[in-house]
Amino acid sequence: MTGIERLRGIEEGDVAALAARIGSDAVSWPAPSRYLEEPRGKLAGHPASALVRPRNTGEVARILAFCHERRIPVVPYGGGTGLVGGQVMADLPPLVLSLERMRAIRSLSPADGVMVVEAGAVLAEVQAAAAAHDRLFPLSMASEGSCTIGGNLATNAGGVQVLRYGNARALCLGIEAVLADGRIHHGLRSLHKDNTGYDLRDLLIGSEGTLGVITAATLKLHMRPRAHATAFLAVASPSAALDLLHAALAALDERLTAFELISEQSFVFMAEKLPAIRRPFGTAPAWSVLMEAAGSEAGELEERLLGMIEAALAEGQVTDGRLARSERERREFWHFRESIPLANRAVGAIVSHDISLPLGTIPAFLRDAPAQIRRIAPVRINAFGHLGDGNLHYNFFPPEGRDRREYAALAAALSERLYELVTARGGSISAEHGIGRFRARDLARFADPAALAAMRAIKAALDPRGILNPGAVLAG
Ligand SMILES: Cc1cc2nc3c(=O)[nH]c(=O)nc-3n(C[C@H](O)[C@H](O)[C@H](O)COP(=O)(O)OP(=O)(O)OC[C@H]3O[C@@H](n4cnc5c(N)ncnc54)[C@H](O)[C@@H]3O)c2cc1C
Repeated sequence: MTGIERLRGIEEGDVAALAARIGSDAVSWPAPSRYLEEPRGKLAGHPASALVRPRNTGEVARILAFCHERRIPVVPYGGGTGLVGGQVMADLPPLVLSLERMRAIRSLSPADGVMVVEAGAVLAEVQAAAAAHDRLFPLSMASEGSCTIGGNLATNAGGVQVLRYGNARALCLGIEAVLADGRIHHGLRSLHKDNTGYDLRDLLIGSEGTLGVITAATLKLHMRPRAHATAFLAVASPSAALDLLHAALAALDERLTAFELISEQSFVFMAEKLPAIRRPFGTAPAWSVLMEAAGSEAGELEERLLGMIEAALAEGQVTDGRLARSERERREFWHFRESIPLANRAVGAIVSHDISLPLGTIPAFLRDAPAQIRRIAPVRINAFGHLGDGNLHYNFFPPEGRDRREYAALAAALSERLYELVTARGGSISAEHGIGRFRARDLARFADPAALAAMRAIKAALDPRGILNPGAVLAG
């Protein structure tokens, strides 16, 4: 019997019993449709799902204890921006548990460099709260106006500044969470060092709602940089981009905060679908990079950046470029980069991927993979992403004038071929979006068997009835 078969979907009687325990204003049945959607429209949640919006950790504990006893599946829900279907369940009607009413900043100490926030706090609000105290919470991504800290931690989100500050895991010192049976883990510590056995915080980060519901977190703050230097550069090839990355690290060391690679296909889609967004180059370069450094002194940053760019121009690695001359121009550069996923969505991908590779293998991968992939179908490929982290979004689109639905039957074969190429080079099938439901079968196929067995054992130990986000991460 699979995990899902041991469960039962939520029913009207359960909804009434839950409403009697935590208040009818906290429960809706059926759940409003926006809680049953995911950003790319690939999966719709079960129409008979219920929604609960607890106000505090105690209520989350009571809800989970209730569902544990009745074997009702629970899908934790943050901002709904996840890209792998982790927040949407279709097989059975679950209880969708939204953290949207738990969004308080419980405390913020610039002196200690930490803030404690509730899981439903929206990332942009957390960034703003840190900035109001002259500190930086550096996690940053295009979805930051909607995604939540709970979702960020549950997916171990990355974004555009991982190179300098690390991903969500590196920015979290402690977690408060409710386990499947309703027990509360009081782990809101602010220690930088704590080697007291297995680390539940690290297990919960990246567990995508399958091991516990994160209710609050202690986050690490950084000093706010006073100045930025940002350049958009056309490069001769991915190999030149990699040389440039190393030159930038040598010139700027930890001041280099972002290093993004963008293919010509991104420019083509942007021109076609979002023509109003200002493009950094008149003619689309075959490859380009958007890089940024942050520090305390603008003059010094620019001098180092320019020195490095001049050397790269002389050596032919860089063929054209723009330096942001104002904050407005800097924002325009980033707006272009962050709008690429929107243009992709408007074109309509057959299937999208978020892979990572050892840095040195990326140029050969980008050179060789397209021919291998196109043996299956003549797809257009849009490769772009966080080159500094070895992380690429590698998405397949139908040939011009064709519809993605014509190729839907080939999506699995396309992904499988890609993942074979990636794993053969020591890469990962999911760099930052997680596994969710869309990649659960791929994980079962490509994960190290010992790691997979350990994951299943951990799941069974922490959630013996399998109520937490069934079908996400671990298939079957
Ligand atoms: C335009 C766009 C750009 C994006 N860019 C990036 C990017 O650069 N880097 C990146 O990493 N991601 C990116 N994403 C993906 C997404 O924004 C992140 O995965 C984000 O962390 C999800 O947060 P959320 O609050 O929306 O979570 P949701 O989508 O609501 O949920 C995601 C997963 O986390 C679980 N979950 C949510 N809240 C909790 C909780 N409190 N406790 C336990 N489990 C929970 C859910 O069950 C689900 O499995 C992007 C998405 C979009 C739409």
